[in-house]
Amino acid sequence: MATLTAIPSTKVSGGSFLIEEHTPNEVFTPEDFNEQHLLIAQTAEEFANKEIVPNIDKMEHKDFGLTRELVRKAGELGLSGVDVPEQYGGLHLDKVTSAIIADRLAKHGGFSATWGAHTCIGTLPIVYFGTETQKKKYLPGLASGETIGAYALSESSSGSDALNCRTRAALSADGKFYLLNGEKMWITNAGFADLFIVFAKVDGEKFTAFIIERNFPGFAVGAEEHKMGIRGSSTCPLILNDCKVPVENVLGEVGKGHQIAFNVLNVGRFKLGAACVGSARNCIESAIAYARQRKAFGKVIADFGLVREKLANMAAGIFTGEAMAYRTVGMMDAAVAQLGESQSEMVQVRKVIDEYAVECSILKVWGSEFINYVVDEMVQIYGGYGFVEEYPAERSYRDSRINRIFEGTNEINRLVITGFLLKRAMSGQLPLMPAIKRIMDEVLSGTRDEETEGILAEERRLVATAKKIGLFAAGVATQRYMQAIQDQQEIMGAIANIVIETYAMESAVLRALKLAAQNGEAATAHPITMARLYAAGALEKVECAARMVIAASAEGDMLRSQMAILRRLCKYEPFNTVGLRQAIAQKVIESGKYVVA
Ligand SMILES: Cc1cc2nc3c(=O)[nH]c(=O)nc-3n(C[C@H](O)[C@H](O)[C@H](O)COP(=O)(O)OP(=O)(O)OC[C@H]3O[C@@H](n4cnc5c(N)ncnc54)[C@H](O)[C@@H]3O)c2cc1C
Repeated sequence: MATLTAIPSTKVSGGSFLIEEHTPNEVFTPEDFNEQHLLIAQTAEEFANKEIVPNIDKMEHKDFGLTRELVRKAGELGLSGVDVPEQYGGLHLDKVTSAIIADRLAKHGGFSATWGAHTCIGTLPIVYFGTETQKKKYLPGLASGETIGAYALSESSSGSDALNCRTRAALSADGKFYLLNGEKMWITNAGFADLFIVFAKVDGEKFTAFIIERNFPGFAVGAEEHKMGIRGSSTCPLILNDCKVPVENVLGEVGKGHQIAFNVLNVGRFKLGAACVGSARNCIESAIAYARQRKAFGKVIADFGLVREKLANMAAGIFTGEAMAYRTVGMMDAAVAQLGESQSEMVQVRKVIDEYAVECSILKVWGSEFINYVVDEMVQIYGGYGFVEEYPAERSYRDSRINRIFEGTNEINRLVITGFLLKRAMSGQLPLMPAIKRIMDEVLSGTRDEETEGILAEERRLVATAKKIGLFAAGVATQRYMQAIQDQQEIMGAIANIVIETYAMESAVLRALKLAAQNGEAATAHPITMARLYAAGALEKVECAARMVIAASAEGDMLRSQMAILRRLCKYEPFNTVGLRQAIAQKVIESGKYVVA
């Protein structure tokens, strides 16, 4: 692989951020982009501004010929083939590059969905699981954008519960074909895609992936759905009526389709997270421009504290989202770089992606909920105009909503986060249980924290506290419910919320520290303020989620003593968040956009 990452961090295990302390030098941040990363960012940004933005109206009216042409043009620039090996027509660059492109192309929800489905879930199954013949046959067209890909897992009766699909595959009498029967639902790009990764159960049991060409006999695409948002993308059902698929088009092994389905969804999740952050950057720019010219009560509305606090929250969130997204892909690249030669490169990349499943789900949930916040406040800043189609806030608001539903709903992803960590803890892969015991002993014995000094000292202490609270809450809940905790979804969800916010605040603080080490504390005032604001709010969420977990896991004296421990853990001087927001807002309003320096 052509690794572009300038500063690969040391290899870190997925989910280990909860129990390990990390230093700024161990995390990859946008400030570590090398020249090639910056060049690709610029290429993607220019493509978005010149090709996507001027064509939004046409794409919203479903000019799919144009959409295809834009995917092909993106392919010409190399933007569609970054995850495809060079021998099959791609560029095979690092995952930082993949995230940069998803982030910078995010100027139109419809095109982002099209491009994401094509380059990610429509292409990667063949990259990671295809045979040599399949790769040679299909990947060059997918990488160039001449062929458009789609991924068909969901059905009308099984979306989240995708392994419970009804589509069946049966081997023909001559053993040359599988005959597929069933239907698929909500398939992105279906209206114009050429190639479909379709999941079906062989003999009603063995969940398997197939590569289906649009012109295979027995294959049909249904009518376009009328959607709330991402109207510039195509979403249709597929109908498989004795669809004849050559046996050579089985992807991976019969009965192992779940590995394909879930592996590529992880990539979809980190790209979606990066795209949500990119989209938020565009939204804040638009909101600032509007707020600087709209007048009320003799002032521009950008002067009002209640408008400024929204812009400040957006900016601090973008800083945090960038930190989380690039930290995650940086870890992936570092892990790939350190793997041995014993297995094929693609098998290794697959394993690395699985290793960071928790971080991918965190990015997906956090990114999609953050962009929902941003577009909601963008509508609010636009006031009545925010509710009107001619202004950008209305479409952004509608387009963002799908992000919480596809690539695994946020409920499913929350269950993945806690479930994956618990599974690793039980198997000993992640020493979570000893860490929980250590924290329980420490808090019960009333040991005091060591004093932290230096830049962002209090925020670093808050991050350490969030980790302790998370382990303590998980300890209380696992003691109470043992294995049955898997059935306590609200508790699983609350623990996931603690994990998500801990990763977010730590990423923001580490990024600000890294910037301060590079540029000096004085020159880093704005990033430090953004990290501080994010960390202060995150700890409140962590505390709130922990309270819920503890109250649902203990009663009477036990409850009272555990709540006393939580209160002790949560002792900190409140920050002047009003002042922090004012400072951040001043900077972004003056700059006219989100800025770091
Ligand atoms: C515009 C659009 C594009 C899409 N593109 C594609 C595509 O390209 N390919 C594809 O295969 N699919 C695609 N989908 C389908 C999408 O992935 C599913 O809609 C999604 O996975 C949710 O499945 P569902 O709609 O069946 O909801 P359900 O699974 O019925 O879920 C309904 C609600 O119940 C909750 N829920 C379900 N199970 C649980 C559980 N175990 N615990 C707690 N809560 C639960 C969910 O979180 C959700 O809130 C797309 C959907 C849309 C709307």
